[in-house]
Amino acid sequence: MSVTLPALVRQKELISNYDIILNKVKEVALRAASAQVELVAVSKLKPSSDILTLYNHGVRHFGENYVQELTTKASELPKDIKWHFIGSLQTDKCKVLAKNIENLHAVETIDSLKKCKKLNTHRQEVNGAVINVYLQINTSGEDQKSGFKLSEGGKKDLYEAVSFLVSEECKFLSFEGLMTIGSFLESTSSEQNNDFKKLVDLKKELDEKFSLSLKTSMGMSNDFQDAIRQGSTSVRVGSSIFGTRPPKN
Ligand SMILES: *Cc1c(COP(=O)(O)O)cnc(C)c1O
Repeated sequence: MSVTLPALVRQKELISNYDIILNKVKEVALRAASAQVELVAVSKLKPSSDILTLYNHGVRHFGENYVQELTTKASELPKDIKWHFIGSLQTDKCKVLAKNIENLHAVETIDSLKKCKKLNTHRQEVNGAVINVYLQINTSGEDQKSGFKLSEGGKKDLYEAVSFLVSEECKFLSFEGLMTIGSFLESTSSEQNNDFKKLVDLKKELDEKFSLSLKTSMGMSNDFQDAIRQGSTSVRVGSSIFGTRPPKN
């Protein structure tokens, strides 16, 4: 089967976009004297052929938002892809994720102890590889955003989840770090992003309290450079690599 011209044009475009973003990530990280920053290519609503193009270019970390879409893509794409689930996670979907996606590298959007327990239990049932877990923090306090809140009650819930993640009982999850999106306003302001700052402050607090060395997942197409300057160790970039997304029907 021959490759069509439009397919070749698309491949070149993707590789070029990816390399531009990767170089920016490296450059900003270097200037911020930051350790290595991971670039997760967010491929939601984009075809598997796009992912395969970047895979053949050496990319392994991809982010997906929808359980069904991830399940389909994971079944047809190479098994050494490191999938990051970054979509809003319903409790009853933890089972599918943990049992069916053998190369699920990370779940970045966990916002309850219950979801930690479900993921751990179901991963254990298939004796699967350890899943790296990020707890999502609702740093902006917006109602439409998920994550542990920074209120007193939210903090209490967060500490409970952390205590479970670092316990003996939790063998199939590794507590990797904290994740946030932050508000649009903070993302577009010319001052430092206060939501990113809140995440970094919380990371330091947890590191100290639980003797950890957590990572931070923050920064998207719009604001990944600021995020790295403020200490992000993992950025999730979609549209700057893959182009604008079709609407989710
Ligand atoms: C879609 C999405 C991204 C990527 O967003 P872009 O603006 O396209 O880079 C990053 N993080 C999360 C949680 C997302 O849902």
